[in-house]
Amino acid sequence: MAAQIIDGKAFAANLRQSIARAVPALPRTPTLAVVLVGDDPASQVYVRNKIRQTEEVGMGSIERRLAADIDQQQVIATICALNEDPNVDGILVQLPLPDHLDEEVILAQIDPAKDVDGLTETSAGRLFLGKLGLRPCTPTGCVLLAERVIGNLSGKSCVIVGRSILVGKPAALLFLEKNCTVTIAHSKTKNLPELCRTADILIAAVGRAQMIEGSWIKPGACVIDVGINRIAAPERGLDKTRLVGDVDFASALKTAGFITPVPGGVGPMTIACLLRNALLASADAQKVIMDDV
Ligand code: NDP
Repeated sequence: MAAQIIDGKAFAANLRQSIARAVPALPRTPTLAVVLVGDDPASQVYVRNKIRQTEEVGMGSIERRLAADIDQQQVIATICALNEDPNVDGILVQLPLPDHLDEEVILAQIDPAKDVDGLTETSAGRLFLGKLGLRPCTPTGCVLLAERVIGNLSGKSCVIVGRSILVGKPAALLFLEKNCTVTIAHSKTKNLPELCRTADILIAAVGRAQMIEGSWIKPGACVIDVGINRIAAPERGLDKTRLVGDVDFASALKTAGFITPVPGGVGPMTIACLLRNALLASADAQKVIMDDV
């Protein structure tokens, strides 16, 4: 039987609706600040999207656009001002930054209480220690999607292919928090297909188009494809391209129980989880206890 396709767009829309319902319960409207350095067209589109969705759920937004040649101290000063602003609940620095800026130093300036991307050392440390904190958005989206289709994840075997700071490592800790038995695979892993076949939940976060084939998937497994890769699509015309994941969707569809498509799977959940983090950060700042959204 063909796998059930996990509709990330629909799940993300549901999550945004719960966020929109929760926003009016807060005495002060949550506000997300986005810092965009330079004029990279892709980053501009991402930022526009994030701001539009922030406003659609009823939150406030602030956009700080900085020139591409700005010096590091000025970027830091911008972040410090947002840290100090009591009306700002979340701060996001759109990556990548221009080459002359040190991403690590700049991200480290964000107040951990406002770190809606969950990428500062404090947030990563809190996740590692199992303490409360803001969690990275893409891996959180993976867990929420898996829970929506499987229910309780406790005791499930979870194989994560990829060990990046952004996706693979935090995903491993988040699935561990859900009591999964987690294995992390990477470019030096031996017998990857065999290892993948042990997974009840398979997370692909590699960045290699269609690398994971259907024959690598345990029958009935839940496959979450984080990869976003652009490949040539001559069937659509000369010079045309299309987006694909790290999983070979057509063959995986025949073996998996559930699978996320690319696009329309993990991607939409990433922004919804960013808004969720902004809401949680704001509730925390306003000392309001909030039911899980
Ligand atoms: P990175 O390049 O930082 O990490 C890739 C990981 O894959 C590394 O750990 C690497 O191993 C591993 N890897 C590479 N080749 C192989 C291989 N042949 N076999 C097994 N493992 C391999 O990528 P990211 O984690 O940042 O992103 C991964 C993908 O997810 C990308 O396509 C990215 O575009 C996408 N993405 C999607 C998001 C979304 O919202 N949907 C958000 C973020 C990322 P090693 O460490 O040994 O080098």
